[in-house]
Amino acid sequence: MPYNYDDQNIFAKILRGEIPNDTVLETEHTLAFNDIQPQAPVHVLVIPKGPYVCHDHFALNASDAEIADFTRAVGKICQMNSIQPGEGGEGYRTIANAGSDGVQEVPHFHMHILGGRPLGRMLSK
Ligand code: 5GP
Repeated sequence: MPYNYDDQNIFAKILRGEIPNDTVLETEHTLAFNDIQPQAPVHVLVIPKGPYVCHDHFALNASDAEIADFTRAVGKICQMNSIQPGEGGEGYRTIANAGSDGVQEVPHFHMHILGGRPLGRMLSK
């Protein structure tokens, strides 16, 4: 089934400025803000400004500039939070849920960056 981007999703509304967010970084193609229900001391959501539903949609359709900007933003947020394992930080986890098996709630591609505490194993079962 082709992707059908719903421009009424909550992150589309954040991008249009219709609802507030706690922005931590904004670049030409990317916005990052704190999750409203943080699961860890660091819980940032990184989203492209373009209308992409999930990671594969973004990875296969976004421009090189959008992908580079997004990827650099993820790195920058790790840097800003001092969680880089190669730079004295304790590490982190990135998660991008997709579709029903991935239990994606908001149908605008977003990457979770979680850190600031031991996160346990990746999957419980
Ligand atoms: P998903 O399950 O789709 O990967 O994660 C969606 C995330 O978006 C959840 O962690 C949820 O707490 C967060 N979220 C949902 N609505 C809002 C909102 O209005 N503002 C912010 N900052 N985060 C939200």
